[in-house]
Amino acid sequence: MTERTLAIIKPDAVARHLAGAIIQRVEADGFAIRAMRRVELSQAQAEGFYAVHRERPFFASLTRFMASGPAIVMVLEAPDAIRKWRSAMGATDPARADAGTIRKQFAESIERNATHGSDAPDTAAFEIGYFFAGCELVP
Ligand code: ATP
Ligand code: MG
Repeated sequence: MTERTLAIIKPDAVARHLAGAIIQRVEADGFAIRAMRRVELSQAQAEGFYAVHRERPFFASLTRFMASGPAIVMVLEAPDAIRKWRSAMGATDPARADAGTIRKQFAESIERNATHGSDAPDTAAFEIGYFFAGCELVP
């Protein structure tokens, strides 16, 4: 079933000029880019995006990182897009990520890990709506 997921090229990867390589991977893996925009999140916007993690010990550091510089947000579409994009990214911690995954190749650390992907249909719907209006996603 065709599905959409929210992907982010995080500030660490944009700062190291890896956006092109990551977008190339997106296309090579067969995702359609349905929407894409460069953003500079405020601290409050980063906190709103990662609100599910507000009780976690890394929340303050994670949200400071996400607000530290430009990022690129994308809506990716493919059959089984949520699972497919998470599998392309690899494990959260690059030290545990499989060979051939984006995080294995590009992530600096468990926090500065190059990309984000939604983890379920309900979070994908929230995250896509956080950055894009419905009228931007009309086929
Ligand atoms: P994402 O939601 O960004 O796609 P994920 O689903 O693999 O990543 P989550 O558990 O949702 O992982 O964590 C969200 C983000 O918080 C991670 O991608 C990473 O940037 C950061 N993070 C997660 N665990 C830690 C940790 N133990 N220490 C520091 N940062 C962490
Ligand atoms: Mg997550």
